[in-house]
Amino acid sequence: GEARVPLEVFAAKNPDEEIRRTSSSGGVFTALAETVLNEGGVVFGARWNEHWEVVHDYTETCEGLAAFRGSKYVQSVVGDTFKQAERFLKGGRKVLYSGTPCQIAALKRFLDKDYEHLLTVDCICHGTPSPGVFRWYMGEQLAKVIGKDGYRFVPCPIPLIPQVDVLAREEGCRIEGIRFRDKKEGWKNFSFAFDLTVGISSTQAKAVSFSYPLRKSSFLSGFLSNLYLRPSCYACPAKNGKSAADITLGDYWGIASLMPQLDDDRGISAVLVGTPKGRVALEATAVELYPVPYEDVRGKNSALTNSCAVPIGRSVFWTADSKSFHQKIKDICRVSFAQRVKRKFRAVLRMSGVKR
Ligand SMILES: Cc1cc2nc3c(=O)[nH]c(=O)nc-3n(C[C@H](O)[C@H](O)[C@H](O)COP(=O)(O)OP(=O)(O)OC[C@H]3O[C@@H](n4cnc5c(N)ncnc54)[C@H](O)[C@@H]3O)c2cc1C
Repeated sequence: GEARVPLEVFAAKNPDEEIRRTSSSGGVFTALAETVLNEGGVVFGARWNEHWEVVHDYTETCEGLAAFRGSKYVQSVVGDTFKQAERFLKGGRKVLYSGTPCQIAALKRFLDKDYEHLLTVDCICHGTPSPGVFRWYMGEQLAKVIGKDGYRFVPCPIPLIPQVDVLAREEGCRIEGIRFRDKKEGWKNFSFAFDLTVGISSTQAKAVSFSYPLRKSSFLSGFLSNLYLRPSCYACPAKNGKSAADITLGDYWGIASLMPQLDDDRGISAVLVGTPKGRVALEATAVELYPVPYEDVRGKNSALTNSCAVPIGRSVFWTADSKSFHQKIKDICRVSFAQRVKRKFRAVLRMSGVKR
């Protein structure tokens, strides 16, 4: 499709605090999905499967939406869901399909026809990390927290790494949950977190949780440094409205400079309305909407319009050597002493009001 300027743009949040807490930004996805379900519709989204892989699936209940909530920073497998959605649409059911811009563009190509009762929701998308790299990271992380040495291998080409549930069993534990956007330390300083049951083969099985805030998580650092996005993400043909989604959702990073009263650090969404159908769907929800200029979102969230550049570190990351995942990230993302001094200096200036 063509690049597009949205019809309307909002800062928004779901008035239900529990839904907002368990969502990545303002919980707008759940509000849209609930209205579709209440009208007898079906909702498609990304969830974990039993092997801790991210897959697309559908639900017909509000309880089923919990699995879709929260961004999973791994490319999801759409599997048969385009066909399933088509079957529901042909049967006259309302369908909400949510995914990354490229998934929405692909769904539209697959359907090859406009359905009045299809609502598409995509996201402002940074790009999606490789599932193989996520398995590598999880395997090493589990070995580390359970107390063994992280295992090492040559990541280029990525050999067949066992599924995450298998890796966990090898360490005598079971994964109970994985969250990329845990808000325990706040929306802005989000954490990568996971819950385990350890000692599953003994009589003293117990629950333990781990969480790593943004700057301390090697997986999030490598993701945000663009080291292992899918190759296609560096030249994305679907962002900037080209997916033709009815609604685009994102994090309203920087809301504090526009509407400080909204910034409670519990998550505010940026909502871009792409079509009249999207506007009707949004108005049917109980979401609190605050109109904002499009330029504000575009200026604060470059992922809306631009693909990431390929960083120098990407080829370093994918070069075969015997380093662990953790060590690679540490070496590539290490901030130099000079950079640290510069940052500290800027922070002091900002605090003293010299610089805004
Ligand atoms: C890979 C990825 C990259 C993103 N990059 C940015 C960014 O750079 N800037 C920005 O502002 N926002 C980004 N987002 C969007 C943001 O994280 C929130 O998803 C969005 O703000 C909606 O939040 P919410 O609170 O309304 O809903 P939530 O409940 O948090 O959102 C859940 C929605 O995300 C979908 N979803 C979750 N994981 C995946 C996945 N792996 N593949 C496809 N769909 C998925 C679910 O199906 C559901 O529709 C990204 C999301 C993903 C999945």
